[in-house]
Amino acid sequence: MIQTLLIHAEAPPKPPQGAPCNGCGICCAAARCPVAWLFLPRGSGACAALEWDGSARRYRCGMVAQPAHYLRWLPRRWEGRAARWFAYRIAAGRGCDFGAVEVAGD
Ligand code: SF4
Ligand code: SF4
Repeated sequence: MIQTLLIHAEAPPKPPQGAPCNGCGICCAAARCPVAWLFLPRGSGACAALEWDGSARRYRCGMVAQPAHYLRWLPRRWEGRAARWFAYRIAAGRGCDFGAVEVAGD
């Protein structure tokens, strides 16, 4: 299947599956994870919580970085706990779990 993804020009290239995640953002631009399906409004394109971190020059998951920004009903005092739970649910820190893609630039 051919899919057009909009990715920041300074984003790092996608590493091989199983390598450490480098925040390339390809996976979250291509498909929504279960956390996004459960908690975020549906729309076309990249996940609404996919955030570009300009200082680190990589993407990050907003549901881990600042979940209360996306879940307005979440009390601030629970934000840390929610962030840890979302990080666990998206398998953060366990390496790239997204399969091979062919990327064509312009
Ligand atoms: S899991 Fe893989 S595809 Fe997703 S942001 Fe990390 S390196 Fe990129
Ligand atoms: S919730 Fe986070 S990990 Fe899941 S698709 Fe969105 S940005 Fe990616």
